[in-house]
Amino acid sequence: MLMSRPQTDSQAAYRLLPSIDEVLRDPRAAPLEARSGRELLQRFAAETLEVWRAEIKAGRLDADRIVTLRAAGEPYLELERRARREEGRGVVRCVNATGVVLNTGLGRAPVHPEVAEVMAVAARSYDVLEVDRATNERNQRDDYLGELLARMTGAEAGIGVNNCAAAVLLLFNTFAGGREAIVSRGELVEIGGSFRVPDVMARANAALVEVGTTNRTRVADYESAITGRTGLVVKVHTSNFRVVGFTEEASPAELAELGRRRGVTTAFDLGSGLFEPSGAPPLAHLLGDEPLVVDAVKSGIDVVMYSGDKLFGGPQSGLVVGKRAAIAALRKNPIYRALRLDKVTLAGLEATAKLVLSGRAHELPTRRMLAATAHDLRPAADALAARLARISGLHVAVAEGASQPGSGSAPGILLPTYVVRVRHATLSDAELALALREAPVPVFTRVQEGHVLVDPRTLLPGDDADLVRGFEHAAGRDAGSARRSPA
Ligand SMILES: *Cc1c(COP(=O)(O)O)cnc(C)c1O
Repeated sequence: MLMSRPQTDSQAAYRLLPSIDEVLRDPRAAPLEARSGRELLQRFAAETLEVWRAEIKAGRLDADRIVTLRAAGEPYLELERRARREEGRGVVRCVNATGVVLNTGLGRAPVHPEVAEVMAVAARSYDVLEVDRATNERNQRDDYLGELLARMTGAEAGIGVNNCAAAVLLLFNTFAGGREAIVSRGELVEIGGSFRVPDVMARANAALVEVGTTNRTRVADYESAITGRTGLVVKVHTSNFRVVGFTEEASPAELAELGRRRGVTTAFDLGSGLFEPSGAPPLAHLLGDEPLVVDAVKSGIDVVMYSGDKLFGGPQSGLVVGKRAAIAALRKNPIYRALRLDKVTLAGLEATAKLVLSGRAHELPTRRMLAATAHDLRPAADALAARLARISGLHVAVAEGASQPGSGSAPGILLPTYVVRVRHATLSDAELALALREAPVPVFTRVQEGHVLVDPRTLLPGDDADLVRGFEHAAGRDAGSARRSPA
């Protein structure tokens, strides 16, 4: 019968598949099992056999081929590939060669090595966190951080929460929960990751009162919207876009004066939080009209908030400074308990603030990266190009380029740099970039017009070795193996 032969063939193929135990009995599996654990390997073996069964069913895998694959030890090799893929998941150190300094996808600000050490110690030990050493009584965990932030900014007081989004939520709920908050139409922004100011306000139980137009909002617009139900007037820095041309916005000082006169709390969400600490090369001239935290505080606004992992250069957090009474009100809100900092982050923020206050802000990695000129970066680009040019299959050249501050800090601002433009003999730009991301230490680059661009601005000390290894790994693949199918 015509149908019977393929049927017998597939039955023979199924019979030739190893069992899960047989796959795990491969002598090479022992060290793998020590790393990954038996249960995970059993799961990988089961998944592998599942794929093979599906291939047999689809007529793409026959008995002869299975004999060949087993002889080549392919079942074990597939376990190894799956184990390696598993190890590459989750939070893994990578090389940022994109030139985007505060790259949210790559974890924003890498902290100063001394800060990282303080964080590691806090993580593995008991810590004096919420207790007074003199009296042994409970106190507030971020009292000291608040003091450090106040010293840095000239504010009366400060607190820290999980991120700036948390600070915005806490702000609206504390001062406008069950009441109204006034925001300019031109500042109702979405800050990536579907964080929209109006949505956060709704969740904070604050009613939004929009004033002005997209391009122009005057103080008088805010004033005429104030009613008995107004709890808050908020200014939001439009971090990730800019309105140009015929524009007008109320200054922080004007809003502060309005708030004082009408008895309404005022706040400014800065997002990035630019500082110009003494002893550090200034950044303001590089970042356009990015507002300074100290200026926002000086304007008299009650509450000023910014991210700890943007221009401040610390671990992920939201930092809030301002008038003593306003900060105390935020702290009294029960929601604060749900948004508060963990001890590791808190230790990292204190350490970062102390570095800045002791005149060492210029050592912060992100500050150094932002301050570097194209002239400063040229030698690094040349040295990298020389090393990459030695890898076979790569065509390498140094060219002028542009880096970005990132994370909505200074939108539209580009920082002149030199990049290494790399092309592979057979891989496309996207294939090369993918192979780099899949290197043992992943390397992230920019892709432009058939080339992969390496920007030395965002490389940390020691990254160059992993970057070169990444290119060696990637160049070792040809176009065929980059597209290889799993089976
Ligand atoms: C980035 C940003 C936020 C969100 O900060 P996270 O720390 O990422 O939560 C809020 N507001 C503004 C204006 C921002 O730029």
